[in-house]
Amino acid sequence: MMWKNLSTTIKLASPIAAFCCLWRTNPLHRMEDPRVDLVYSSDIGVGRTQYLKWDDYFMAVTLLAERRCKDICQTRAGASIFDETKKFEGIGYTSEIHPTVDIKDAECHAELNALLSRNSADLKNSTMYVSYFPCNECAKYIIQSGIKSVVYYTNKKGTTEDPYKDPKYMLQEAEVNSKPFQTFLRQITIDFRGKDPEVGTSSQNDQTPKKNEDPITIKTPLTDDEFFMAMAFVASARSKDPRTQVGACIVNEENKVIGIGYNGMPLRFNDANTNWGKVEKDGLPKKDPIVCHGELNAFLFGNVAEMKNSTLYVTLFPCEECAKVFIRAGIKKVIYHSDKQHDKREISRKLLKKAGVKTEQFTPTPGREKIVIDIKPLDKRCT
Ligand code: ZN
Repeated sequence: MMWKNLSTTIKLASPIAAFCCLWRTNPLHRMEDPRVDLVYSSDIGVGRTQYLKWDDYFMAVTLLAERRCKDICQTRAGASIFDETKKFEGIGYTSEIHPTVDIKDAECHAELNALLSRNSADLKNSTMYVSYFPCNECAKYIIQSGIKSVVYYTNKKGTTEDPYKDPKYMLQEAEVNSKPFQTFLRQITIDFRGKDPEVGTSSQNDQTPKKNEDPITIKTPLTDDEFFMAMAFVASARSKDPRTQVGACIVNEENKVIGIGYNGMPLRFNDANTNWGKVEKDGLPKKDPIVCHGELNAFLFGNVAEMKNSTLYVTLFPCEECAKVFIRAGIKKVIYHSDKQHDKREISRKLLKKAGVKTEQFTPTPGREKIVIDIKPLDKRCT
């Protein structure tokens, strides 16, 4: 196919620094910035950016949610809700209605699960991103919740007759705008090994499945840790910082996502007046004192009321300023990916330890060091 030849990869992470070889004793310790590769459909410059665009970001988390569905789901689908200021509201995937009810008897659709796990009562003017065009029942939930638009990955199930005639009519009558998802991207690859391809392939992370253990395939549901860290990785790809991309995902006691964020300049800062350098330039201050850290943004744009006993998934060990915020908010655990600033994080480590906050480095599951999201909508889709 044409696009195969034309495709190009933008690597958000630059090649591994040579000094990393000094860290050989602890392979996980050396993990660098999150590595998220954006593969575009063509090498023509139109639409290509180093960072994820909003719609691509929202659909990427939706398609990640879909990967949590159990094998026995009739239709593997995900849904996510973002408000008009792009703030995260909720995420869901097709599941059983209750752990004791067999999924074959009753499925709870992704849209309803996203609505049930929402962080704000008011979803006025929000947008829902979905894997498939919503069914009749979900169309009702969407309308009654005040959602203003729906972006669907596909509405094709291989049938010629339109199975979505009624929900389409309902959404239209209720003035809910619906549109198919479009993108210049073809694939997003999350690489948990970070910049260093050797991490995760050492003998301790042997990829060969153990006896009686099924090999990991695309249909193997993502574990909680994999899903929440993958969310942090995808968020990091929104960062416009050319050097350090940090993403974070906060999860409450009930495993509900209550905040997502990435490092960036404060609200209303103009991109044109932004200096991402480490020294002052053209009268613009250096980035360090100005930039808002990814985990801080996940907190500030998150559901602050539910932070107690929550867990922070973050791609880089937090600094002491962020540690203070999370300790004060009552967080109980930090799961981080990279510790590349280990020597600068002594105070932060002490603060978290004294406050009884557990810290743990994320370990990729053998066989799942990479998660590939095929983001380009296909004409027909198997469920
Ligand atoms: Zn920080």
